[in-house]
Amino acid sequence: MKEYKIDTKCLQAGYEPENGMPRVMPIYQSTTYRYNSSDHLAGLFDLTAPGHMYTRISNPSVALVEDKIAQLEGGVGAMLTSSGQAASLCAVFNICGAGQNFISASSIYGGTVNLFAVTMKRMGIEVRFATPDMTDEEILALVDENTRCFFGETIANPALTVFDIERYASLAHGVGLPLIVDNTFATPMLCRPFEFGADIVMHSTTKYMDGHATVVGGVIVDSGNFDWEKGGKFPELTEPDESYHGVVYTRDFGKAAYITKARVQLMRDLGVTPQPLAAFLLNEGLDTLAVRMERHCKNAQTIAEYLEKDPRVSWVNYPGLPSSPDYALAQKYLPGGCSGVISFGVKGGREAAMKFMDSLKLAAIVVHVADARTCVLHPASTTHRQLTDEQLIDAGVTPDLVRFSVGIENVEDILADIDQALAKANG
Ligand code: PLP
Repeated sequence: MKEYKIDTKCLQAGYEPENGMPRVMPIYQSTTYRYNSSDHLAGLFDLTAPGHMYTRISNPSVALVEDKIAQLEGGVGAMLTSSGQAASLCAVFNICGAGQNFISASSIYGGTVNLFAVTMKRMGIEVRFATPDMTDEEILALVDENTRCFFGETIANPALTVFDIERYASLAHGVGLPLIVDNTFATPMLCRPFEFGADIVMHSTTKYMDGHATVVGGVIVDSGNFDWEKGGKFPELTEPDESYHGVVYTRDFGKAAYITKARVQLMRDLGVTPQPLAAFLLNEGLDTLAVRMERHCKNAQTIAEYLEKDPRVSWVNYPGLPSSPDYALAQKYLPGGCSGVISFGVKGGREAAMKFMDSLKLAAIVVHVADARTCVLHPASTTHRQLTDEQLIDAGVTPDLVRFSVGIENVEDILADIDQALAKANG
């Protein structure tokens, strides 16, 4: 499919039916697979024969969607997971174990912060956060001989900061480490981190990739570009894996070493498996990803510009606005648009923000973003409600902050809804 443009690949990559086969990708709803000989099955266990063995590890429907996403991101292989959280865990844990540490941008999804700073700490893995104001020297001062990777989010949820992928890739590579990028909000339609030096990409496919609030899922994609052998820091990839009869991932799987290990070791042992039906539903979403992202960006840009001019709004944060501190980064990494999420403050503080939310008719209050339907959340009264106003400000979540996920409806209807709700909030 290399010859096709990316928006064509959204529809045509992965499942390519031959003569007489179903036009739409079938759901292979089976946990297991029949073989004619024990020898063939033995070969599967040795990773020397091709084929599926057990759906916890791989499945034909899942594999077809993995192939599509690998092509969209420009990687050598991908692995779907049961959630975005599972993808973040596996992406790091595949190369970073107890007694080791990794560097993460501090501006990332709150759930990932919990996973990295609380749960992975209990696994003996330490995260070291790099704040946006740090110099290169200050970031490199966080690195020691036990550091194993760098991590950041292309467009951070909910801060909407734009990650300087090239800068972090160069810092990471300078000390012989790979860069992992969470590309959830951008999707490969708006940014392909491998083109800027990232080595591994992951997504919560629950967001724009699915796009219809239908199915929770995640994915990890391997660029195949990182040299795991150089520097000797990754023996789990370059030395025999006893749990697979001494397979050496770099020797036996070449460029696909990382993603093969993630599947045959982590997926086998952790079982964070996507269901075939989930893969099917995700594939339906991917079919229309290109057109949806175009519309999300166009609508969000229009709404951000409208809000910025509205006297009832105290501030607007959207990387597509020249007033955004990340505007220059957005121009570089997101030339096709800045995705669909905007945050803004309603004049009148927490009370006015809540009144605004409650007055919306089209935009739905949900704990979700990146859906085809416009949705909205007031973090101060929901996800962050246990914090005082002072603590909220420290966390970058002001009491008046509204997170607005712009959908693909007609923009005039979304604007009219915002307008009437702002009138009630300020009335
Ligand atoms: N990464 C980002 C950027 C997210 O926004 C989310 C969820 O909101 C996740 C990861 C976790 O994904 P999931 O909810 O699919 O587990």
